[in-house]
Amino acid sequence: MATERTFSIIKPDATRRNLTGKVNAVLEGAGLRIVAQKRIWMTTQQAETFYGVHKERPFFRDLVTFMTSGPVVVQVLEGDNAVAKNREVMGATNPANAAEGTIRKLFAESIEANSVHGSDSPENAATEIAYFFAGTEIVG
Ligand code: ADP
Ligand code: MG
Repeated sequence: MATERTFSIIKPDATRRNLTGKVNAVLEGAGLRIVAQKRIWMTTQQAETFYGVHKERPFFRDLVTFMTSGPVVVQVLEGDNAVAKNREVMGATNPANAAEGTIRKLFAESIEANSVHGSDSPENAATEIAYFFAGTEIVG
C-alpha cells in the first residue's frame, strides 16, 4: 500500500469543547500519523477560498461564519491510504448517518458543526496541504 498524506481540520465546535486530544486519539488509533499540526483562527477570506467549491451551495455563508467562529487545528496526516482512511474514521457528513466509533458519531453536534474536515481525494489533499503548510513545517 502507498504511504499517502491528507489534510485535516479539527473544526471550531471541537476546539471549543476542548476535544483536540480526543479527536487526535481516534486519528492515531486508526493508524494515521500527525506529521504537521497548528492551531489557527481562519480569516473569512481563507475560509471562503478553502470552501470555494461550495460557494453556490445554500449553506456556504453559514459554513464560512462557522469556520471563522473560533480556532481550528489544521493538520497533515500520513499513512497507508491516508485520504480514504481518514474519510472512513471521520464518518458521514451528517452525524445522524455516521457509523459507530467514527469521529463525527462520537463528537459532532450537527451536519454543519461536524468536528472535522478531511480531504476527499489525493489531488485535493495536495492543494489543501499547500494552502496551509510550508513544506518545512511537515515532518514525517
Ligand atoms: P464533508 O466535510 O463530509 O466532505 P461536504 O464537503 O459536502 O462534506 O461539506 C463541507 C462542509 O459543509 C461539511 O463538513 C459541513 O460542515 C458543511 N455542510 C455540508 N452540508 C451541509 C448542510 N446541508 N447544511 C449545513 N452545513 C453543511
Ligand atoms: Mg468535502
